[in-house]
Amino acid sequence: MRVLVSGAGGNMGREVVRAVMAEEDMELVAAVDPREVGKDIGEICGLTRLGIDVTEDLNSALKNIKTDAVVDFTSPFAVMKNIETIIDNGVDLVVGTTGITNADVERIKKRAGKKGVKGVIAPNFALGAVLMMKVSRMISRYFDSVEIIELHHDKKVDAPSGTAIKTAQMILEERGFESPSLPEEIEKIEGVRGGELEGIKIHSVRLPGMVAHQQVIFGGLGQTLTVRHDSLNRTSFMPGVIMALRKLPEIEGIVFGLEHLI
Ligand code: NAP
Repeated sequence: MRVLVSGAGGNMGREVVRAVMAEEDMELVAAVDPREVGKDIGEICGLTRLGIDVTEDLNSALKNIKTDAVVDFTSPFAVMKNIETIIDNGVDLVVGTTGITNADVERIKKRAGKKGVKGVIAPNFALGAVLMMKVSRMISRYFDSVEIIELHHDKKVDAPSGTAIKTAQMILEERGFESPSLPEEIEKIEGVRGGELEGIKIHSVRLPGMVAHQQVIFGGLGQTLTVRHDSLNRTSFMPGVIMALRKLPEIEGIVFGLEHLI
């Protein structure tokens, strides 16, 4: 499989380059990123020289280099344009960049459908995080209250995390929740009780030293149940990314969420 990495100079992109290089049946064919243009991607990733220079323009890379799939870990500001470019070039995609809404997914599905493009878009490629979401959906049947706390590094630009939104959506597919705010509740500091998605409170913490963490706390009569997942470093996402690439030939259209592949 000939893979182009979009956002190859970033934290996740460099990890993806190393992961693709470690797979015998995959070949890195190009690296796109406005950072580090002209430098050898192998050297940027702490590998030996690969003879592949980082380029800036995704569209020209796709026009000039035969590519089977693009992996995109860029920025919420860039991702939709990148996805459109990838689809219009008729190339399959694996996207981990966050900030993609449900409405965006519907638009992507339509555009990809017209071009016969397949893809996996997942707010979280860590297997443990996907299991956290699945288990939380199951537990929600038995507890009447839930709040989600997600914790990430201080460079993350979007809040709440895609994982927190996806977790809330999966729980909401199972059952509805009443807003946990009391009518007479007084917020002495605005927003201190967190944001709310259809009755589920979400709290976002941003601190240096963090990678990606989440806890889902269920409350019941005289008891709580907490499900917690920690990505301790970015290698945690790589088995999911490689699995998504391998599954591309057998899936239909665009799959949103790794839970549909495991
Ligand atoms: P990062 O270190 O900032 O890397 C992003 C890279 O993409 C940067 O080098 C950035 O360059 C580059 N970039 C920006 N616009 C681009 C474009 N149009 N085309 C190509 N490259 C572009 O961020 P990160 O920590 O790797 O995270 C990237 C994304 O992945 C975020 O949305 C994050 O939330 C998400 N993420 C997802 C998962 C998951 O499992 N799904 C896990 C971790 C992170 P500049 O700095 O010059 O803009």
